[in-house]
Parts: sequence; C-alpha cells; structure tokens
Amino acid sequence: MAKEYNPYKEVVEIIEEAAKKMSFSKKDYEVVKYPERELKVSIPVEMDDGSIQVFEGYRVQHSSSRGPCKGGIRYHQDVDMDEVKALAVWMSFKSALVNIPYGGGKGAVKVNSKKLSKNELKNLTRRYTAMILPLIGPERDIPAPDVGTDAEIMGWIMDTYSMFKGYTVSGVVTGKPIEIGGSLGRREATGRGVMFMTREILHRLGMPVIGTTVAIQGMGKVGGTAARLLYREGCKIIAVSDVSGALFCESGLDINEITEYISNNEQKTLAEYEARGVSHISNTELLTCRVDVLIPAALENQITSEIAADVKAKIIVEGANGPTTSNADKILLKNEKTIVPDILANAGGVVVSYFEWVQNIQSLTWDEDEVNRTLEKIMIRAFNEVWDCCEKSSTNMRTGAYMVALERIVNAKKLRGVFP
Ligand code: GLU
Repeated sequence: MAKEYNPYKEVVEIIEEAAKKMSFSKKDYEVVKYPERELKVSIPVEMDDGSIQVFEGYRVQHSSSRGPCKGGIRYHQDVDMDEVKALAVWMSFKSALVNIPYGGGKGAVKVNSKKLSKNELKNLTRRYTAMILPLIGPERDIPAPDVGTDAEIMGWIMDTYSMFKGYTVSGVVTGKPIEIGGSLGRREATGRGVMFMTREILHRLGMPVIGTTVAIQGMGKVGGTAARLLYREGCKIIAVSDVSGALFCESGLDINEITEYISNNEQKTLAEYEARGVSHISNTELLTCRVDVLIPAALENQITSEIAADVKAKIIVEGANGPTTSNADKILLKNEKTIVPDILANAGGVVVSYFEWVQNIQSLTWDEDEVNRTLEKIMIRAFNEVWDCCEKSSTNMRTGAYMVALERIVNAKKLRGVFP
C-alpha cells in the first residue's frame, strides 16, 4: 500500500469534519474516534504437509453504543490493524446511517486464502473463531463475509461457536448458507444496494438509467452483482475488471456472457475472455475511462491522488469500503464529481445481514421478495436523508452521510452516558 495511506487516520479526519459542521463539541464525539476493543491473535494451523504455520488475526469492536457490534471478516494477505480499525469504524457509521440497531466491528486474518487447501482454510477458520470467541455472540458482536470470505466460511464459524456453547446458535454470524440459517437475498444484497443507490443518484441528477454508461472495478460478490443488476436495468456497462485485468467495449459489454465465462473457467477470472469489439485494458485505464458512472467495488486505496484528476466519470458510487483516498476526494470534489460514499452505497450487505439475524432470533424465514423490498425501502430512506442533509448544510454526500450517522451515534452515547 502507498505510504501516504492510513485508512484509520483518514476516517478520523472525516469524523472531525462532520463534527465541525454539526458544531459538536469535542466532548460529544471524542470517544467515537477510538475503537472500544482491539484483539490480535496468533492462529496456528497444521498444514497438509504436516508443518505448522502461524497466521495473524484481528477482531476490532469500534462501537456498541447503538447495539451489538457488526461487521465482516476479511481474509487478505495485506491486512493490518489500522485497516481493520478503519473497517470497524466504517461499519459503525454504516449501521447508524441506515438506522439498524448495530454498532460496528471488523475482523481479519492476514492470509492469501487462495494458497490454502480447503482443509487448511477450514482449520484456520475454526481456530480463529475459537480465539475470538470471548468477543463474539449474537448479542455482542456478529461477524459476516467480507473480501476473501464466503457463506461456507460463515457456516464453519457458526458451527465452531455452537460446538463451544453446546447448542446451535445461528445468530452468531450472518451470510451463512441458506440451509443453516442464511437469508435469501443476502449474497446479492451489497450489489443490489449499489444498484439502488446508482439508480437514485441518476434520478436526482436528472439522468436516465437506460443507456447510462458504467465502469465497474471488481467482478466479485459486490461488483459482479451490481454489474448484472444495472445491466438488467438498461445501463450500458462498458468496462469491468477483476484481479486478472480489465475489459472494455465502447458499445457495451455482454455482462451475462462475461458472468458465465468467469464462473465456467478454471481460474474464475476474465483474463482470457474474448469477444468482438472487446479490448483488454489496465486497471488505471478502467478507473479513468470516459463513462457516466464509475463503481469501484474492489478494495481500499484505488482512486488515489495520482489518478483522481484523470477520472472522467461524473458520478462515483463506492461499492468497496474506502476506495477513494482523502486527497483524491478533494480533487474529485473540486472537479465537481458526485460521490455516493461507501457507507451509503455498500450498506445493502449489512442491512440484509440484519434481516438474517432477525430471522435467526425469531426462528422464522422471509421470502426473497420481502428481503429485497425491505432492503430497497431502507436504502432509499437513507439516501434521501443524506440528500436532505447535504442540501440543508450545503455539503457533499460523504460529509452529509457522516453527519447523519454521527448524530445518531453521538445521541446514543449521550443518552447512555459515560460509565461509571
Ligand atoms: N462486509 C460487509 C460490509 O463491509 C458486510 C458486513 C455485515 O454484513 O455485517 O459492509
């Protein structure tokens, strides 16, 4: 990662800016700048060849003022404590912004999971779960999938926790396989939310959905779903990418064909995809191509100050957490770009995680239509609240989103008071 970049420092800066705009005193929000708890663990795993490897793991609880901590678990070779802390803060603000009764947390293991066998991955997950066990639970801290983790891994977490308890606790984790308490619609929820937010911002700016050109960085759970749903809504997706590279087609890519291509080849990438009019471009070319909407849906620190001035999209919808650095943000705002910030744009995942948890606790199931309809209602409500706040305070959508969320977090803290 570039040296200039510390996501935790950057998110604290945004909190300060929102607090200043709201005329909060330091006393009101000082505590919001610090995570409540940080746990670092060493995870020994017996590898298939008989050797022992020790992996570093983390779980950070940023805030439990509005409810249990909530947030995913990331498996990635580059994670560190500052990144996990920033991700935990983002979760608190995301939950507050969409007004679901959660605080924020995040976990991670420093590992390239693609290099592990299934057995090693399972053992790593079970041991990590055992080591963060004192922190998690359906009423204290509820993990979920994130970059590098999926439903199967969530199932192992649920089982491990349940084995320690001696009975099945499905509400300890969300994003599980449907058969063991997962919710319909959870897998697509983040991407679906990105689609709703793209649609809303286009409406607000008086632009049509049909024919709008879109570039999407990332064809995974978030970007892939957003691509499919926006394509179905009539957008022209002219560029997409994954870890292997990026594709470009001026007249629009066939997203259904590309999706099928990715799932059917051994590497599960678009590296060797070929079609008429489609060229292979670089990641930077994707981020700076001439489109109406750019959706970074991969990792943090993608739109940096080096490329921000070259971004041609009028609208940026942040499917990933923290894809834009604060220096890049300033450049984009100066160039009059509209940014739908991550804590709003990608909140669909945690919203449906909340539905999953509610279903688990009540031992009932919702049909997919109900999940999607309620998700849409919550996302649009949050969008409108941010929009109104921006108009009232003459500010951009990122600051507006933080203002709406910070007010809720600060109020909860005030009402509860400082213990003892
Ligand atoms: N990892 C997702 C996020 O960053 C989902 C978190 C959750 O569902 O708890 O929002």
